[in-house]
Amino acid sequence: MKLNELTIKEAREGLKKKQFSCLELVKSCLEQINKTNSKLNSFITVCEEEATEKAVEIDRGFRERKPLLGIPIALKDLYCTKGIKTTAGSKVLENYIPVYDATVVDKLKNAGAIIIGKTNCDAWAHGASGENSDFGPTRNPWNLERTPGGSSSGSAVAAAADECLAAMGTDTGGSVRLPASFCNVVGLKPTYGRVSRYGVVAMASSLDCMGHLTKTVEDSALILGVTAGFDPKDATSSNKPVEDYLEGIRGNRGTRRIRIGLPKEYFGEGLDARIKEKILGALGVLEDLGAKIIEVSLPHTKYALAAYYIIQPAEVSSNLARYDGIRFGNDRDKFGDEAKRRIMLGTYILSAGYYDAYYLKAMKVRTLIKRDFNEVFKKVDVLISPVSPNPPFKLGEKVNDPMQMYLADIYTVTANLAGIPGLSIPAGFVDGLPVGMQILGPQFSEKMLFQVGKIYEQSTH
Ligand code: GLN
Repeated sequence: MKLNELTIKEAREGLKKKQFSCLELVKSCLEQINKTNSKLNSFITVCEEEATEKAVEIDRGFRERKPLLGIPIALKDLYCTKGIKTTAGSKVLENYIPVYDATVVDKLKNAGAIIIGKTNCDAWAHGASGENSDFGPTRNPWNLERTPGGSSSGSAVAAAADECLAAMGTDTGGSVRLPASFCNVVGLKPTYGRVSRYGVVAMASSLDCMGHLTKTVEDSALILGVTAGFDPKDATSSNKPVEDYLEGIRGNRGTRRIRIGLPKEYFGEGLDARIKEKILGALGVLEDLGAKIIEVSLPHTKYALAAYYIIQPAEVSSNLARYDGIRFGNDRDKFGDEAKRRIMLGTYILSAGYYDAYYLKAMKVRTLIKRDFNEVFKKVDVLISPVSPNPPFKLGEKVNDPMQMYLADIYTVTANLAGIPGLSIPAGFVDGLPVGMQILGPQFSEKMLFQVGKIYEQSTH
């Protein structure tokens, strides 16, 4: 096995036992990037020099016991990195070099992580396929003709193709979970406010969550332990203490009687029959392990996508106003079609006379969706659903049909509207293409999601 193929857990053990050096680990990731990036287009910037220097420095004084010491991690190019170009996937920021690190980047560095590069993504994180990137689409490593999912396309591919050990993404409506599902890796969207948003280019501020993509559930838990926590620079970050997410998923602890809800609205019309079969099969596995499966209903699910595509562009139009450069003598032609579409929609939605009819109404629906979850979580511990209604689709298939593209988010936007966490884990393949399963839980239930995910992961191939 090559070093870049290791999980974080394995790499930490190997480094500790001095089976290999941190430089060797970084070099093997860089070699893989060199070999695959021209095909996959997963990286916008590779931090070859910085990563190598850092590795040498760590090897020299390898004694500290930091949770991510020497681990190569990639960042979606939405995370501000001091001295390293940060584009948000858009030509507008093509030459932007931040003077500070995002809080998450700061925390990762303090934990010993090595930033290996900045990954490709849909411009401003608008999209479900990676095709809205101004730097060209990323390709799915399982099938180069297919999309890897978006908008954290490059991060999912970087983790799936072993170009790094883990990658940070962002999830406003599914952008960590969908590409995780399409690329066969583990993707976490944490509870809203669990991880600081400071220093990450904002998409829709009441929905944005800083998540990550890893090769295993345990690695996901490890990273959340580093990134989570209150940040005085982000007023919406929670001051709830950070839990020990690894506790309860290490070793074989057997399965306690978890109550799993099967939300019927997530298994209806529009869901590919082969995906349905996979997810029901996974539920069967969990049932055999002692979980109790209960059918539940979230009646307002049918309004979720409509509400999301009102609230999100409204916030996007406000956030993107600061980038248009109109006051600095630039015009707006550097914004791509999708950003323009959202700016126009959002401006319209928020304008006098329409605000009540659209925005306010969507916000009321959002409350109803949140209440649906509150009710259901009185009866069950977690919910299990598909991540995407379809397997990874072909590049070009939906890019000219925004409505079709938006439908890819149908099972993921609800978690963002309600602020609850969601974990996407691999659940098998249809026709050689990966299928993910989504585990949803109440706010701040990440520990439980990791436990359920781990139980499934260790009892399947
Ligand atoms: N696909 C969704 C959208 O385009 C989600 C994007 C995201 O989570 N960043 O709005």
